[in-house]
Amino acid sequence: MEHLVNAAVQNIQISGIRKISNLVATYKDAITLTIGQPDFPTPGHIVEAGKQALDRNKTVYTPNAGLPELRRAASAFVERKYGLVYDPEQEVIVTAGASQALDITLRTIIGPGSEVVLPGPIYPGYEPIVRLCGGTPVYVDTRSKGFKLTAELLKPALTERTRAIVLCYPSNPTGRVMDEAELAAVADLLRGRPIFVISDEIYSELTYGVPHRSIAALPGMKERTIVINGLSKSHSMTGWRIGFTFADAAISKHMLKVHQYNVTCASSISQYAALEALTAGFDDALPMKREYEARRDFVHARLQRIGLEADKPEGAFYLFPSIGRFGLTSMDFTMRLLEEERVAVVPGDAFGEYGEGYVRISYAYSMDVLERALDKLETFVSRLG
Ligand code: PMP
Repeated sequence: MEHLVNAAVQNIQISGIRKISNLVATYKDAITLTIGQPDFPTPGHIVEAGKQALDRNKTVYTPNAGLPELRRAASAFVERKYGLVYDPEQEVIVTAGASQALDITLRTIIGPGSEVVLPGPIYPGYEPIVRLCGGTPVYVDTRSKGFKLTAELLKPALTERTRAIVLCYPSNPTGRVMDEAELAAVADLLRGRPIFVISDEIYSELTYGVPHRSIAALPGMKERTIVINGLSKSHSMTGWRIGFTFADAAISKHMLKVHQYNVTCASSISQYAALEALTAGFDDALPMKREYEARRDFVHARLQRIGLEADKPEGAFYLFPSIGRFGLTSMDFTMRLLEEERVAVVPGDAFGEYGEGYVRISYAYSMDVLERALDKLETFVSRLG
């Protein structure tokens, strides 16, 4: 019966990140730097709010869009932090993580024949959904611009079929952040065109020494931008599955239909925990952020010493050094590093087009783990010559 499975689904490949983590699991002594989730526990007061929700039998459906008080808290959070103004009644949807937020966003706006611009290398979660919608991903090579999308790069990629562009800044996998002037240049190109911007801002709380700016806050951009965010990274809540969409009421009302038939609502228990996170835990990300920043500095300096060149990232918790000079594919480099030194990284080719020639190193690990891994990486690289 397998041949009867929807061809679009058959054609989806398992994510390269998942493949490498499955492989690493078979090496008991490997040090892994592959994971894209915080290594800190969920703050205790948030866990407590989740427990209380259980004790008080808050275990029934919430409204489809999420608890009204949580939507109000989410709207207040993004307004105070990023200057984004969204009506909690009509423009905010609580989702099962940023992943489901992306799913309902793309399924609402993408149909057969639509083109979606993906500035590569980029998080691999977008392409499969675009394809399931019958759309076509159009990768734009950002390598020459420090992995940032510029108007100059974007312009030639736009056609009459372009329906959306995706921005993922702070970036997974590169850690780069676009500043306000850079976003404004992209906004200038898009204003007046029938093109949406999907702005995945899941790492917005994790920027080091630079502010997070959202393209949706720029004049004339709110109506065409769908902002994706969530608590997975900011509040160390990956397993709670809480995300958000922020979009103009005219778009949100359609997204809500997809969401309703997709999951009905996000987990009620997690929503109560999220409410605590966005009210009492407004700045929970700060202590983690300080630690990540110290690790970023440490890993970046070590990589430079080892001779693995990487732009110094301003956000998220990844570095994306070039391995071009070794004449190996990113998969060969990764496999040899794993086999010879028992250190796992993610090959750049897992991040769509233009990721080849790099590897992703996550620093969501303790300093001790990072030190040991980098010592081994240094031994490996010096052997490669
Ligand atoms: N977008 C990006 C860029 C991510 O890195 C991730 C998680 N790795 C997600 C979305 C999904 O986040 P969530 O756990 O909230 O579904």
